[in-house]
Amino acid sequence: MSRLAIVGAGGRMGQRLVALAPEVGLTAAAQVDQGGPALSEVDPGGVDAVIDFSVHAQAPGTAAWCAEHGVPLVLGTTGLDPAQREAVAGAAQRVAVVHAPNFSVGVNALFALVGQMAKLLGPGWDLEVVEAHHRHKVDAPSGTARQLGVHLAEARGWDYDDVVRGGRDGLVGARPDREIGMAVVRGGDVVGEHTVLYLSTGEQVSIGHRATDRDIFARGALRAAGWLLAAPRSPGLYSMQDVLRG
Ligand code: NAD
Repeated sequence: MSRLAIVGAGGRMGQRLVALAPEVGLTAAAQVDQGGPALSEVDPGGVDAVIDFSVHAQAPGTAAWCAEHGVPLVLGTTGLDPAQREAVAGAAQRVAVVHAPNFSVGVNALFALVGQMAKLLGPGWDLEVVEAHHRHKVDAPSGTARQLGVHLAEARGWDYDDVVRGGRDGLVGARPDREIGMAVVRGGDVVGEHTVLYLSTGEQVSIGHRATDRDIFARGALRAAGWLLAAPRSPGLYSMQDVLRG
């Protein structure tokens, strides 16, 4: 059995990763969480891959540990700021890293579709993303909503950070063409819902995804770990779409 270190092992996702790993021939040899052993205390010789689903502030440290010890990383944590994303990209120059804001097969199909749909519809369609998550989620908009926005922006030849528009409140004025709206809902135990809206005059299109069980993310992350371990992977930043391509 290949051995994993799970960072954030006590969390909602971490617990499912620990429970489901044996189904795919993996074992959670090290379980890292606050109050338990830190990753720096884990023997790198006893770990074949790391999976981190914790908090954004931990991501650069996890990536640096993996780069230092040549251990591949599956990073599912979202909400990274630009400096944290850069730190992960730096580590990926030395070791293979799969970083995905969403490990579900359905959302990765959606990632492949949303830009194509924007191109098919052409100009004159306003682009909006709506996402909903449980009340405990700490970052907003979700990493998945952000990635959907990035694909939409790319389809229009825009830079995502220039055109994204968060919550609207007050006298915000008429909607400009060059904008991608992000609306965020938080509450209850919603596992994760994402809808992309294409809004024109006289007609609208919407495509979306609803997760009802977070095991889909855990199974996807374990599949990514299996992919990293199945063959020597060159250092680099990989997506879940690379994993699904096999
Ligand atoms: P959670 O709050 O239930 O769990 C996070 C865990 O990380 C907690 O047990 C916490 O104690 C631990 N933690 C905090 N700081 C740590 C540190 N420095 N070192 C080690 N452990 C630390 O959250 P969750 O719902 O399990 O989500 C975790 C992350 O995964 C979030 O960023 C979430 O957005 C993301 N997520 C990603 C996907 C995906 O498919 N990529 C799916 C679901 C959740």
